[in-house]
Formats: sequence, structure tokens, C-alpha cells
Amino acid sequence: MEEEQPMLKRTDKVQYLKGVGEKRAAQLSKLGIVTVEDLLRSYPRDYIDYSNPCGVLEAPYETPCVVRATVFSRQAPVRVRGGRTIYRVNAGDDSAGLTLTFFNSPYAAQKLEPDREYLFYGRIGGGFGRREMTAPTFIPADASHPLTAVYHQTQGINSAYLSRLVKEALEALPAEAFDDPLEEPLRRRWRLPALADALRGIHQPSSLEEAKRTRRRFAFEELYCLELGMKLLRSRSSRSTGAPMTHCDPAPFYASLPFPPTGAQRRAVEEMRRDFCGASPMNRLLQGDVGSGKTLVAAAGMAMAAQNGYQSVLMAPTEILARQHAQTLDRLLGPLGLQVALLTGSVKGKARRTLLEMVANGEAQVVVGTHAVLGDAVNFAHLGFAVVDEQHRFGVRQRGLLAGKAENPHLLVMSATPIPRTLSLLLFGELDVSILDELPPGRTPVRTIAVGSALRGRMYGFLEKQIAAGHQVFVVCPLIEQEEGNDSSELQAVTAYRETIAAKLLPGRRIGLLHGRMKPEQKEEVMRALAAGEIDLLCSTTVVEVGVDVPNASVMVIENAERYGLSALHQLRGRVGRGAAESFCILVSDNDSESVRERLTFLCHTSDGFAVAQYDLDHRGPGDFFGKRQHGLPTLRVADAATDARMIETAAAEAADLLHRDPELAAPEHAALRLAVERLFDAAGGTAVN
Ligand code: ADP
Ligand code: MG
Repeated sequence: MEEEQPMLKRTDKVQYLKGVGEKRAAQLSKLGIVTVEDLLRSYPRDYIDYSNPCGVLEAPYETPCVVRATVFSRQAPVRVRGGRTIYRVNAGDDSAGLTLTFFNSPYAAQKLEPDREYLFYGRIGGGFGRREMTAPTFIPADASHPLTAVYHQTQGINSAYLSRLVKEALEALPAEAFDDPLEEPLRRRWRLPALADALRGIHQPSSLEEAKRTRRRFAFEELYCLELGMKLLRSRSSRSTGAPMTHCDPAPFYASLPFPPTGAQRRAVEEMRRDFCGASPMNRLLQGDVGSGKTLVAAAGMAMAAQNGYQSVLMAPTEILARQHAQTLDRLLGPLGLQVALLTGSVKGKARRTLLEMVANGEAQVVVGTHAVLGDAVNFAHLGFAVVDEQHRFGVRQRGLLAGKAENPHLLVMSATPIPRTLSLLLFGELDVSILDELPPGRTPVRTIAVGSALRGRMYGFLEKQIAAGHQVFVVCPLIEQEEGNDSSELQAVTAYRETIAAKLLPGRRIGLLHGRMKPEQKEEVMRALAAGEIDLLCSTTVVEVGVDVPNASVMVIENAERYGLSALHQLRGRVGRGAAESFCILVSDNDSESVRERLTFLCHTSDGFAVAQYDLDHRGPGDFFGKRQHGLPTLRVADAATDARMIETAAAEAADLLHRDPELAAPEHAALRLAVERLFDAAGGTAVN
């Protein structure tokens, strides 16, 4: 008698599937696959279409293609240096022979049976008359499915294995396991297949057409969930404010400034003032190009909060930036008698205790810091206003944590990454937006030029002249992102550059070094020396990207400029051009692919951050744009923000409609949908629904 199998559930761990032991489970979890649901939601990244194979002789060299060939025999394995073993298989058709090569993989070679015909997918290599394919993927020529899904792989987990697991999961799941987050009427309206069909269709399509159709459903689901999550976040603003203010007047602050605020700054402050005096907490995004003076707007808010007896906090992404903000705010708010405290990870021991004490008893009216300000030990006496600088460096979650430091404080997030209007609604749907579209007076646009490294000698001649005229120079080398990567070969890049290039080409000049792996004290010393004019040229990684303000710097050189998106280059460029002197940005790149040339040329002719962002969006993958690092939002797996703009609108309208009927998404029939929304935001390390 057959044993009764308990029914598989979507929430079950993948270990319930055949062939998944502890080791496999650990490897799968590296791909983010823990449950059966995770597995099914790991959509293929591509498909191999075996339906139009070509003969061996006509197959093109060095281009991915499918070849139909019969296996003749297996060669004896050959051991080569490095402990590797090569397995070769002889195959071919009437037109020519084909050698198939597999490294360290007896399994693949053994699966190929002599005298059987297969379809091989790979690149043809080899020399005259000799054709070979290394590590091809293949299926029997008489296979019923001419399409094979290709999955993201990790060590030990290959695409074929994932295909098998998915197949098993789909077969083992009972019909009721496919609780569809998208309701029937909605699916009918937009002609989207039901979940069970769609999962089959995306993992095992019978045609590319079908794959495309089902992909559309998942793209919709993703955007719908994103919209719902953002709108639920926004519902925070329907709560009443925890920091009601009655008396808000920026005039005393303005009067204490050494220069008049720009019109744009005044407008933003006025918008903030109205929010402060309103009944619900402010949720505002302040967008302004680098150098547009966002700090001053934040400071005005802090001054107004203090008028009402509230503390303010500003969170910056790096230690350097936090220090700089603390100094600036001290300069701006000190004259009004406000006490500014700096809290970073490197403030320790007694100093830290004293500081926390001042935060807790309200003596420190303005607290500036890194994410250290989120720490459990940090308790505010009466926090009323929270500011997040360079918000794309933080996630939705950290933003929420900061706002959680008090009962519904007013929140201002500042961003120097302009967002094209088509997207800002989706990305920042939960925020009101203020825009600083005016630079402080006296700025001249930075002259930008692109050069190849053949011109390095001349470029250094130019740098020498600039330094001789009393200016300072930044050189940015591509390197690890500060505080994350651990690729020490890249770390060499900036260090070596300083010694082998900069020091040689600028003998006798004072050359500084700055990168994310230096100790905070070291970094601070370098920044101090730079600001004091004791460094002529600073070789650095992109740690200077965010916010560092050195008015005397007149040239920004960016090595390997092809490695950055235009928005990132634009940010770096914004580090110069802050003083009165004419400033320059030199993009060095030896990459002459047309797209790179075009991109860099575009930047040379454009100083408008919004246009730059739009170009990025149009020309790079939306993955880059939507990446967590850009916006701190969930990464979309299927949807494509650039091409799915219409779908975004539809999803937004449907989401609004649904929340109108069920504001908290609490109805039992929306349980699956609510879970899907949580999944999307959890994967980003953020929680939208609380
Ligand atoms: P960002 O928007 O990039 O954060 P900052 O707040 O760092 O810009 O300001 C850039 C520079 O402009 C600072 O040196 C600041 O003192 C100066 N600044 C800001 N507002 C004005 C103004 N209204 N008039 C003159 N200079 C200003
Ligand atoms: Mg700034």
C-alpha cells in the first residue's frame, strides 16, 4: 500500500523536495531560496530556445547557437595541471565533426549516450576545420520541450538542478496551494493568467510567446505590490503628528545668515513650515542638484523645530559627511544659541556617555550622525524633526527606524539624485516633494571634457598649472565601495595610482590618499588637511562622492569613467565648482565602445541633473536605476521601469482603488496579496506594512 504523503505547502522549506539535503539547502539559501515559494518565485533569467537548431558546419563561430549533432563516442578522461580533468565527447553530423569538452564534470559527459541525437547550446570554438564546444548545455533531440529555462546559479547549484526542483515543486503542489495574490476580476480586466498557470508558463513555457505573456503578469504583480506597499507607508501621514508646532518663523534664522537664501530655498522652507504647522507629520523629499544648498533648508527646519522646543536629528551615510554637516550646522545654528552634537560609531567611552546624556535630557537640540543615531541607546528627550541626507544610501527600513525614534516626527529626506518625473511618483509615492531648482549665485557651470589616457601627460600638465594657481584637485579611482567590498586588489588601485602616477607626474606636490578602508581618524585628518589647503591633489575612491565640500577645489578627474552611471559622475562632478573660479571635470576612459563615448559626451554637454538622470534611465538597465543602492527601494525582478511606464500607471490606479475598499489590506480575501507585499519589501530589508 502506498504511504499517504502530507501535502506540500508553498511555505514549506525546500528540504521537503526530493534531492534537497542540508548542503543543498544551504547553497540554495545563498540564492535567496529557503521555501518552496522562494523557489517558484526565482524566475528564469533567460531561456534557451532549441527549436531552430543548425547543422555543425553552418554553425557560426563564437556566437551562442544551437547545434543538432549525434554523439559518437566518449574519449578517455585527461588529467591536466591544477588537478583538473577534461572529459571529451566526439559528436557530429553529415557535414562535420564536433568535439564537446567538459571540465571536471564527468556527470555531463556520462549523460551523453552514443548513437543518440542531441541539441547542444553553446559557442563554437576551435581552429581550421576543427569545431568544439566547451561545456554546452543540451537536451535530447526528441525532447518534448524545445525551451529550457536558465536560472541564476551559484556554486554547486546549476540551472539544470533548479529546473528539476521547480518541476518537482510544481507537480507536488496541490491546486489550493496557488492562492493568487491577484484577484480574479483584476486578472480578467488586464488579461493576466492565474498564478498556477503563470508559474508553469514562466518556468516551463512551450514558446517564447508564452514566457513573455506570463512575465507580464509577474511584472504587474510586482508593480502592484510595490504601489500598495508605498501607499500603505504613506498612510503614516493620516496619523496625527507627534510634534505639533504653533510658532514657526524662519526670519531670525535668515537674519543670522552671511548670505540671503535663494528663492528656491525659501520656497522649500515655506513648504516645510506649512507641514510643521499642520495636523499630520511631514513626509517630504527635498530634491536638489549637488550644490543647490539643501543643508541650509534642513537647518531652517531645525531652527523652527527648536522654536517649538523640539530636538532635530540628521542622519548622513558616511562619517566624513556627518562631521561636515555637524560643522556646517554648528556654524548656521550656533548664532541662534543651538547646541549641535555629533554622534558616530567612533565616538566611544565616556565621551559617548556624556553625549547620549545630552541627547536624552534635551541639552543637545541638534544631533548629527551616521546610522549610529539609530542605536538603541540613543533616546531623545523630545525629537520633533528627522532629516535623512543622501537618502538613496539608506533603505526604506532605516528611514522608518529614524522616524520611529519618536512619536510620528516630521521627516525630511534629501536627495541629490534627481528622479525623472515619470518615476518619482512610483519611487516616492509616499512623499511630498520640494525641489531646489536654483543654484546659489556666483556659480559657473563645471567645464567637462572626456579624454583617453594617452593624454594623461598633458592632463597632468594642466593639473600642475591649476595647483600652481593655488587650486586643489580631486582624482577618483574606481575602487571598492566604501565600507563594503573586500577586494584588496582593487584597493591597490588608488594606493598604487597615488605612488606610480600622481607622485611621478606631479613631483614635489602634496598628494593625499582617501579610501573607505582607512580609519575614521585618518579620514578625518585627510579631510581636515584638504580643507586647510595642505593637500594639492587628493587621490580617492568614491568616498568623496557624497557631499564633501571644498570650495577651493577646481578640478575633478575621474579615472575609468566608463564604470559609472551618469548620475554618479554628475554627483562627483558636483564636488567642484563651488567656489568662484572656473572649474573642470575630466573624464578619463580608454573604453571606446560607442555607447560609452556617447554617454560621456552627453555629460560633457549637460549640467542639468534631471536630464542626466533621464539619460541614465533611458540608456542603462532599470536594474541599475532601481537597484537598492540608488533608491533604497525593493529591487524589481521582473518589471522594467523604463518600458513598463504604462503598467506602472495601471498598477498605481488599481492599488489606489483597492486601498479605497480595504485601507489596511486586512480583509481575509486579501491575505495572499498582503503576504506578497510583505515579501517584496522584506527582500529589500525593509518593512512596508506594519
Ligand atoms: P547640497 O545641496 O549639495 O547639499 P550644500 O548644502 O552642501 O549643497 O551647499 C553647497 C554650498 O553652497 C555650501 O558651501 C553652502 O554654504 C553654499 N550655499 C548654500 N546656500 C547658499 C546661498 N543661498 N547663497 C550662497 N551660498 C549658499
Ligand atoms: Mg549635501
